[in-house]
Amino acid sequence: MPQWGMVIDLDRCTGCNACVAACHAENNLPIAGEEEAAKGRSFHWIRIERYIEGEYPNLKTRFIPVLCQHCDEAPCEPVCPVFATYHSPQGLNVQVYNRCIGTRFCANACPYTVRHFNWFDPRWPEPLERQLNPEVSVRTKGMIEKCTFCIQRIRKAADLAKDEERPVGDGEVQPACAQSCPTDAIVFGDLSDPGSRVSKLASQRRAFRLQEDLGTQPRVIYLKEGSE
Ligand code: SF4
Repeated sequence: MPQWGMVIDLDRCTGCNACVAACHAENNLPIAGEEEAAKGRSFHWIRIERYIEGEYPNLKTRFIPVLCQHCDEAPCEPVCPVFATYHSPQGLNVQVYNRCIGTRFCANACPYTVRHFNWFDPRWPEPLERQLNPEVSVRTKGMIEKCTFCIQRIRKAADLAKDEERPVGDGEVQPACAQSCPTDAIVFGDLSDPGSRVSKLASQRRAFRLQEDLGTQPRVIYLKEGSE
C-alpha cells in the first residue's frame, strides 16, 4: 500500500503563489473577499510564508509554502469529538466533511494553522461558478476543511491502475500545487518506495520537517536552500 508524502524544495521556490491559485481552483475553495480577509478569514489551503534573512542592506527574502503536513502523529485527530478527522492507511490525514460539527478543536490543536473554518456558505459570483470542479464537493458553513493532497486525483489514479491491474506509477499522481509549480519545487509520491523520486529527495541531507521537535512526524518534507 502506498504511503503518500510530499517534498518541497525551498531552493527552487520563488514565492510566485501559482500553487496557491491552482489549489484554490482545483478544490473549490470559497472566496473570502476583502472584508472577510480583513477579519483574518482569508481562505487558502496553502499559504506562502515569507521571511527575511540577514542584516540590512544584505537582505534575502525566503519563502516556505505551508499546507496540511499530514502528520503521522497528528494533534488534530485525537481532539475531534466525532472522528471527522482520522488517519488513513495510506498516511493521509483525512477530513470527513459531512461528519464535522464545527467545534474547531482540530484547528486549535494544529501547530501549523492549516485548518480553515467555513464561516458562511460559499458564493461564486457569475461567471466564477462555471469553474467549479465537479470531482470535488462544495463545503457548507460550519465545517472545517484543509488540504487533502488532492485526494480526488489519488483516487482517480488508483482506480485506473486497478482497472489495468498494475500499481500506481511514480509521478502518476500530481496534486494541483505540484502540477502548477513552474520551478518543479513540489514533488509528490510514495514514501514507502525507495526508488520513487519523492523518497530519493526526502533522503537528502537538506531534508527537514517543520517543527519536528513537536513529534508530529509530518509527511511534508522540506529541503533547505543550498546544494546537497
Ligand atoms: S508554485 Fe512553486 S515556486 Fe511558486 S510559490 Fe508555489 S512552490 Fe513556490
